[in-house]
Amino acid sequence: MMSIQNVLKYPHPLLTRISVPVKVFDLKLLELVNDMFETMYTEDGVGLAAPQIGISKQIMVISPNAKSGQERAFINLEITHRSKDEEVGIEGCLSVPGFTAEISRPVAIQFEAQDVKGNTINEEVRGFAARVIQHELDHLNGILLIDHARFFHKGKTLKASHHRL
Ligand SMILES: [Zn+2]
Repeated sequence: MMSIQNVLKYPHPLLTRISVPVKVFDLKLLELVNDMFETMYTEDGVGLAAPQIGISKQIMVISPNAKSGQERAFINLEITHRSKDEEVGIEGCLSVPGFTAEISRPVAIQFEAQDVKGNTINEEVRGFAARVIQHELDHLNGILLIDHARFFHKGKTLKASHHRL
């Protein structure tokens, strides 16, 4: 039974907590990940980290193309390599509604993670997918875009749904 979760908003204290690794890969984890997928799509997001629904565990879901069926879940993700090349991009956050920020991040990353069954994943991604993963990893470390943004734009609405992570 899937259910949409409430997305916590800044300055909720759980958003600044450091997440702990997942050790048990069971049906509960699968259900949580499915809830996160559903919540992400309902909120028009392209990524969601577990702390955003009040769970301080190293779980993130992404869907950089915002297409149902292309969503991925990464558990205990660690970046193993960051490109020297950085790129400035505009990011929004479901937990900081109404704001976007220009953030410089490495263009490409290599990472190691586990899938929802506990299988090891090693991948290299670049471009927007790399940005989404880095944004979600920040959430797992208690970092919000307002913590390292140089510029803020208060907008009426975030027009492009792919800017909301
Ligand atoms: Zn966010």
